[in-house]
Amino acid sequence: MELIFEKSRKGRIGYKLPELDVDEIDFKEVIPEGYLRKELNLPEVSELDVVRHYTKLSQLNYAVDTTMVPLGSCTMKYNPRINEEIASNPKLTNIHPFTPEEYIQPILKLAYELKELLKELGGFADVSLQPAAGAQGELLGLLLIRAYHEDRGNRDKRVILIPDSAHGTNPATAAICGFDIRVVKSDKKGELDWEDFKKKLKEDVAALMITNPNTLGIFERRIKEVADELHERDALLYMDGANFNALVGKFKPGEWGVDVMHFNLHKTFSTPHGGGGPGAGPVGASEKLKPYLPVPQVEFDGERYYLNWDIPKSVGKLLTFYGHFLVWVKALAYILTYGKEIGKISDFAVLNARYLKHLLKEVLKDPYPDTPCMHEFVLSASNLLKYGVKAGDVAKRILDYGFYAPTMYFPLIVKEALMIEPTETENPDTLHRFAKVIKRIVLEAKKKPELVKNAPFKTPVRRIKEAEANRNLILTYKDVVKSKES
Ligand SMILES: *Cc1c(COP(=O)(O)O)cnc(C)c1O
Repeated sequence: MELIFEKSRKGRIGYKLPELDVDEIDFKEVIPEGYLRKELNLPEVSELDVVRHYTKLSQLNYAVDTTMVPLGSCTMKYNPRINEEIASNPKLTNIHPFTPEEYIQPILKLAYELKELLKELGGFADVSLQPAAGAQGELLGLLLIRAYHEDRGNRDKRVILIPDSAHGTNPATAAICGFDIRVVKSDKKGELDWEDFKKKLKEDVAALMITNPNTLGIFERRIKEVADELHERDALLYMDGANFNALVGKFKPGEWGVDVMHFNLHKTFSTPHGGGGPGAGPVGASEKLKPYLPVPQVEFDGERYYLNWDIPKSVGKLLTFYGHFLVWVKALAYILTYGKEIGKISDFAVLNARYLKHLLKEVLKDPYPDTPCMHEFVLSASNLLKYGVKAGDVAKRILDYGFYAPTMYFPLIVKEALMIEPTETENPDTLHRFAKVIKRIVLEAKKKPELVKNAPFKTPVRRIKEAEANRNLILTYKDVVKSKES
């Protein structure tokens, strides 16, 4: 089946689906031999058994609904039920993506308003809502940067500078876009090393990708100077906005020289995202990069909302249809609930993180004692190595006490890293209980290290081989039965 790309009478480009008769398809031609099912191996079970099976599975979960999930960098905040209720309204869920614009004016208005609010919060000239997640936002950001340089004939700009504290998606995205990567060191305070940055900023640099606050939870105070240095050489500044929870309502990256940034709507603006999505990663762009944003952009001409396909320098389309609409709905509901008080998100996120760090800094090692943290912080469990206990063991033991574990071994520049993010939605009592658990585990590590090294004891599955599920995929019911027998 082929999608036919056509220009409509109004000059807009759209997709036309060809007529399709399923009976005429010879699946043997379409699906390679070996992938065609010969029999259907479904279990013979009653509805009641299925209900019990899935209910029990759901009860085995650690989730924000049952416990704090202090997973640093992921911003696992509470997702208000009202947002889910709004986003499950059939008037929103039942719209066909090919519905003509005339019939979906309120839907386009909703998208337009979210776009305008993100522009305002980020200080950007324009925003594309299209990317499906943060990582795809990064992809778009770098495609914009590439388009900008190509447009100006900057053929020599082949390098993306990336700090050594960066999230793995940053170098992965740069590599996918065909750039070379040059790593910039972090300094003793946990910020971008200024000398190293200046040394590595040569004429071949297309952009720097920086996370702010960075993955150590530390604010990059020289962001404006960094932007100026880059701009002087016609290089650009990408900001990874995954940590925007620390800044929302307080700091507009676009006003400090950031040319492009992705928002993680599912992190900052509340969509449940454990288990892999769906999320949304809108991208904000400065005047320089606005001409290259993907089609279509949702616009308002004073009377009606419409999808603008007429962006001559656009990098094209990123995703089928327009993006993860229902995630936008939840983000808009969340932003409007706060209204003018939206800065309270970052106030309380930072307050909670600083308070929890204060409670824990005596029992674990603080790699950056002179720098205050923002919405998350990284401590090192290296003080427990002498008892044979590692960060991963501490994380496993935390599960026995009913909390989910923090992020471990990231960022890579901190030995035995535990990265903790309480978010603004946890109360002081929970923070105290969590701190008490960590203190207790540190004591156990000293007195009975075997207890920590063999944890968890109370979870349905104990220590697993971390990579086994990737290496030996089990996809069918029959395989499950076979694996249990062997
Ligand atoms: C989560 C995260 C990303 C990637 O975002 P996804 O929405 O998971 O694709 C990128 N950078 C940082 C710092 C992150 O925390």
